[in-house]
Amino acid sequence: MNVMTKTMKATVFIEPGRIALEDKPIPDVGPNDALIRVTTTTICGTDVHILKGEYPVEKGLIIGHEPVGVIEKLGANVTGYEEGQRVIAGAICPSGYSNACLDGLYAQDGQSCRHGLKPMGGWRFGNTIDGTQAEYVRVPDAMANLAPVPDGLTDEQVLMCPDIMSTGFAGAESANIKIGDTVAVFAQGPIGLCATAGAKLKGATTIIGVDAVPERLEIAKRMGADHAVDFNKVDPVDEIMRITDGRGVDVAIEALGLQQTFESSLRVLKPGGTLSSLGVYSGDLTVPLDAFHAGLGDNKIVTSLCPGGKERMRRLMNVIAGGRLDLEPLVTHRFKLDDIVEAYDLFANQRDGVLKVAVTP
Ligand SMILES: [Zn+2]
Repeated sequence: MNVMTKTMKATVFIEPGRIALEDKPIPDVGPNDALIRVTTTTICGTDVHILKGEYPVEKGLIIGHEPVGVIEKLGANVTGYEEGQRVIAGAICPSGYSNACLDGLYAQDGQSCRHGLKPMGGWRFGNTIDGTQAEYVRVPDAMANLAPVPDGLTDEQVLMCPDIMSTGFAGAESANIKIGDTVAVFAQGPIGLCATAGAKLKGATTIIGVDAVPERLEIAKRMGADHAVDFNKVDPVDEIMRITDGRGVDVAIEALGLQQTFESSLRVLKPGGTLSSLGVYSGDLTVPLDAFHAGLGDNKIVTSLCPGGKERMRRLMNVIAGGRLDLEPLVTHRFKLDDIVEAYDLFANQRDGVLKVAVTP
């Protein structure tokens, strides 16, 4: 497929429960945009919420928000890049000039300026504009968002940077983990695994990963967990209190978005500990008074949305290029874009030990 044909294959949200691969026009670029030929993308848990109709997007929208690709075309105002350059862009595309950006909140762009009332801050790809599960994607505000991929790194090595790694690391960063801290990470899906890796890089020296899937607990150890707690075998709160000699953890990272994991995260905190929440919750979330020590525990609850922007992406790729972390084990399955419906089915049903799928147009 080339630009001359003017159409491309793209994954489109049809209605709750149904996505389809359709022919769509190749996007035009505005003066501040870039057109990227997607070479690898992936499917996120959030895309599954879209598929199921649990997170609303417009019918006909191209979904996906994790691009690795090559610059096909640059808008008239975009300088500092070349066509043909390999790049990634974050799942969340800050403009670079909004109030939120200038306040240092690169994920929260949309709440303060241009994108209306839709939740999820500045998340645009596959949410408010066409996304990345296609042959081409238009990247808005290209000069704030395009990050060149260092020579020698493969698509799969950087595929977690746009969302999963940025989000997981943010969970560790927002908690202000200190050298020598004890950290529990509730759920070891792709984001929880990156939070585990982030906790280690931040200097935590006792890391406890909680999950019930044996393969995930195994990878948790490779990502830096010192203890892998299977919540089907033991009560995770009791077990974490046992591991910490009753002291509790300095930081608990919640990486699932359920009442139960939120509550357990609170219950394992030391007095003055920090609950760092990454999960996306639905329905009501309640804070039990006993777990919250009736408000007298000096605890902190912090939340993080995936930080975006080219500088964030450069830092994350630098972690990989510098050999500090290898996230390739998270890519467990590979699909052609043509087979994306099948890829969704496998990923949504968590069959065959899937963590993340690489999708190649
Ligand atoms: Zn995502």
